[in-house]
Amino acid sequence: MSQRKAELAANLAAIQSRIDAAATTCGRAPSEITLVVVTKTFPVEDIKLLYELGVRNFGENRDQEGSIKAPALPKDCIWHFQGQIQSNKIKSILTWANCIHSLDALKHAAKIAEIGSNVQILVQVALEQVLRADRGGVDPATLDDFLERVIDGFKLNVVGLMAVAPLEARPKEAFDELSKIRTGLVHKWPQLQQLSAGMSNDFEAAIAAGATLVRVGSSILGSRSAPL
Ligand SMILES: *Cc1c(COP(=O)(O)O)cnc(C)c1O
Repeated sequence: MSQRKAELAANLAAIQSRIDAAATTCGRAPSEITLVVVTKTFPVEDIKLLYELGVRNFGENRDQEGSIKAPALPKDCIWHFQGQIQSNKIKSILTWANCIHSLDALKHAAKIAEIGSNVQILVQVALEQVLRADRGGVDPATLDDFLERVIDGFKLNVVGLMAVAPLEARPKEAFDELSKIRTGLVHKWPQLQQLSAGMSNDFEAAIAAGATLVRVGSSILGSRSAPL
């Protein structure tokens, strides 16, 4: 085994055992939680090593990267797009992504509907007290209306909600808020089963709040030179 593969294997095992422990602590089955390994900025060679180590779910933030990496891996990979969506990239994103975590604009929903894609979609919710344009997400106050348009109107395949913990607040409170929001909506839209929350620094808090997808990059692959 190469040194890099051994390093990835050790990091992966450490994260998986923390996921299992966090799940068990709050009485959940570890199998309820899918680890998405965020490979943005890391080379295809690393992704191939992770594939050999059993990883199938990969997360990318940019179409420019995902559209090159996804075709280089076997077909049984599941690719998650979790970055800010740009209108002119949607068509390309839909050629490689199996799941989009970051829908937050009706114009993007319209475009996905126009293309006729059945891609799995999570709607990103803004948990900031003060909404920050650079981090994205739908204001919780308008989420019901947004979902009505996207699910009932555009008939998109929305499977859940996603959030990034705010910088100002403690992650536990933010993720509890996200979970509460989902609980309030799932009666109306039972398809909202997925909760994508938690990154390297806060995935345990997210699991305690009910996350079904955790997105972990740097604690498996190492720190990124670009702050993407
Ligand atoms: C980069 C990124 C992650 C992974 O972050 P790490 O801190 O490296 O684990 C997760 N989610 C989103 C939306 C990201 O942009």
